[in-house]
Amino acid sequence: MNERVLVVGSLNMDLTIRVPRLPAPGETVSGQDAVRGAGGKGANQAVAAARLGGLVRLVGLLGDDEFGARLRSGLHREGVDATAVGTLPGAATGLALIVVQEDGENSITLAPGANRHLDEAALIRLTGGDPARFTADSDILLLQLEVPVATALAAARAARAAGVRTVLNAAPMPPFDDRLRQLIAYTDVLILNQSEATALLTAAGLAATGPWPRRAAALRGLGPDLVVVTLGADGAVAESADGPLSHPGFPVDAVDTVGAGDAFCAALTLALAAHTPPATALRRACAAGSLATTRPGAQAALPTRAEVDRLLAPEGG
Ligand code: ADP
Repeated sequence: MNERVLVVGSLNMDLTIRVPRLPAPGETVSGQDAVRGAGGKGANQAVAAARLGGLVRLVGLLGDDEFGARLRSGLHREGVDATAVGTLPGAATGLALIVVQEDGENSITLAPGANRHLDEAALIRLTGGDPARFTADSDILLLQLEVPVATALAAARAARAAGVRTVLNAAPMPPFDDRLRQLIAYTDVLILNQSEATALLTAAGLAATGPWPRRAAALRGLGPDLVVVTLGADGAVAESADGPLSHPGFPVDAVDTVGAGDAFCAALTLALAAHTPPATALRRACAAGSLATTRPGAQAALPTRAEVDRLLAPEGG
């Protein structure tokens, strides 16, 4: 059973430097050697879905530089179909400069580069020129917001017209305008972490306090059939058509939570594409998210389907 997932999203090169403490403005701090890693929420979730057994196609843009070439070969190694990942002449590949302090506190500077140019016209060009066939051969569409909201909206609209469900991980949370409101209305499954959920509730004029299940229910009023809020080590809550759901985090030795949200989103998307009931899908997603915290790095930490199955086995799969 290979669910076919279409991801429209960002690709970045992450450059990480570990330092004793974050520099103050104007200060220089020496750290360890810089480590290069593939990143960007679009690419991370595409790779996560491929490791979890999905047939994954990524739509995005790279610059025509060395980083772009490295990211493309990384996708190839992971078995992600990158034929709809374009190379934009004269543009730089998205770059994240990440500085991590000893206690894990970090600061990130992002240069979106080519990702910024993924507009609706690029989307149509990269996927064969016919918007009506955009989601052909896909069981589900997975979006994040490191690409322009207008692009995500165009993708979600085309998916809705074709009867394909859209999962939106609204991260990072952009300003709440008409376009974002429309995008959420075209979204079937909305996934947020606590800070994104709080930001959206506040911006939409909804109560941003009270128990999480009630807050997820309020967000469901914006249109999605299923709203999921991830709660870090505490797992996740959701509001579905059949009412509230929740699953605790799996007790693991967490060393680095980077990548947990991406693994969670990919696992939930694949499970829902396979018509798994939401409660079971939530459990799989929590398992995948928890496993991603047991290893350092973003894509390097993403678990495989076998690892998720092993973690779930004592509970009966
Ligand atoms: P994000 O990384 O997007 O902020 P979260 O921190 O909420 O998202 O993590 C996503 C999911 O990963 C959680 O719902 C949970 O299932 C799992 N997870 C995250 N941190 C831990 C942890 N310390 N222990 C166990 N599971 C975790």
